[in-house]
Amino acid sequence: MNAGAHENEMKNVVEEVTYLDFTGKLNTIEKSNLQFGYRQSIFSKNAIGIIVEAKLKFKIGNKAQIEDKMKEYSAYRREKQPIAYPSAGSTFKRGEDYITAKLIDECGLKGYQIGGAKISDLHAGFVINIGEATAKEILELIEYTKQKVYEKFGKQLQLEIKIMGEE
Ligand SMILES: Cc1cc2nc3c(=O)[nH]c(=O)nc-3n(C[C@H](O)[C@H](O)[C@H](O)COP(=O)(O)OP(=O)(O)OC[C@H]3O[C@@H](n4cnc5c(N)ncnc54)[C@H](O)[C@@H]3O)c2cc1C
Repeated sequence: MNAGAHENEMKNVVEEVTYLDFTGKLNTIEKSNLQFGYRQSIFSKNAIGIIVEAKLKFKIGNKAQIEDKMKEYSAYRREKQPIAYPSAGSTFKRGEDYITAKLIDECGLKGYQIGGAKISDLHAGFVINIGEATAKEILELIEYTKQKVYEKFGKQLQLEIKIMGEE
């Protein structure tokens, strides 16, 4: 999925990926053919097989500086994201010309709840489970949020998370 944060993405370190295709054959794809994009790659666009190996290339850095950066990013995440509650991460994708969490916040939805599903008070882009939320409640809250943002701003929010199975 080309995960990323703090101005970096997996695509910046991945050199090549080896996968097992559905005939049982191992194939290697080089970086230039991995079709990396915002939270996507050739593997998220098409079900072509199972990744079994990746070659990553990192820059050599200073250990103490790297540790400081890790602490800084970790503190930032604890402060800005609702990691004390279960969630699937950022529920909606970043908009091309808007900040998704800001639009949700401006619809007055921070803290809005359907059953145990809640729009985080800390970061409106996260749907969290504050108790015994069912999949149905999570999906209803996502739909409600999309509808409210569309009514107020005319923007169609895209999901960053993937919905698996049925309600
Ligand atoms: C609190 C929180 C914060 C987050 N913040 C960020 C963030 O800042 N940036 C960001 O990018 N993401 C963020 N995420 C999302 C996070 O990156 C993903 O949840 C995680 O990377 C998914 O990996 P997984 O192994 O847990 O998921 P899985 O569900 O195991 O896999 C995810 C997808 O990859 C496929 N897959 C798994 N293994 C293979 C394989 N071997 N070969 C081929 N396909 C495979 C699965 O079929 C599935 O479609 C956040 C998540 C949480 C919970």
